[in-house]
Amino acid sequence: MSRFDLSSIAVLLLLTLTIFSSCRRDTDVLLDNNNDASSTTSTTKSFANVDPSLWPYFQRFEEQAALRGLSINLNELELTGDLEDLPGENVGGQCTWHSNNPNHITIDEPLFNDLSDLYREFIIFHELGHCVLDRDHREDADQHGSCISLMRSGLGACHDNYTNNTRTNYINELFNPNEF
Ligand SMILES: [Zn+2]
Repeated sequence: MSRFDLSSIAVLLLLTLTIFSSCRRDTDVLLDNNNDASSTTSTTKSFANVDPSLWPYFQRFEEQAALRGLSINLNELELTGDLEDLPGENVGGQCTWHSNNPNHITIDEPLFNDLSDLYREFIIFHELGHCVLDRDHREDADQHGSCISLMRSGLGACHDNYTNNTRTNYINELFNPNEF
């Protein structure tokens, strides 16, 4: 799918959002694919109506929030999540919100299976940013052209630089965007 097609979809989504303000759907693109698929990650917590493959990342999100003084209980929020083969190349995930239903996260299954643990975290934290933190996209770049936020759309000019070294800073920005 070309950038033009994705832009057209973005315009359509924006129009849809304008017409049906109670329903929001955000579809995200992961451009910098990382094919270093890792072994499975352990989890100690379960999440109702969420695919078990996503549990380690949901748990990590709660832990990272807690490290920053935020108490987030995803089970209490009744957030749901699954893995699906989403249409579109490199579409990583989406957050769907509707006033009558719980927030729902969908992660692209083929892409998920191909991603490293770190980039699985990236795409899931991004969607949780929309669905839980109510964050919109942020396309700002630093002086090297790296995205400063993992809430970048994937359609902007900045490039992802999510590594073990930059991870903490990105997660700081996720929970406290006003400080960046
Ligand atoms: Zn997004």
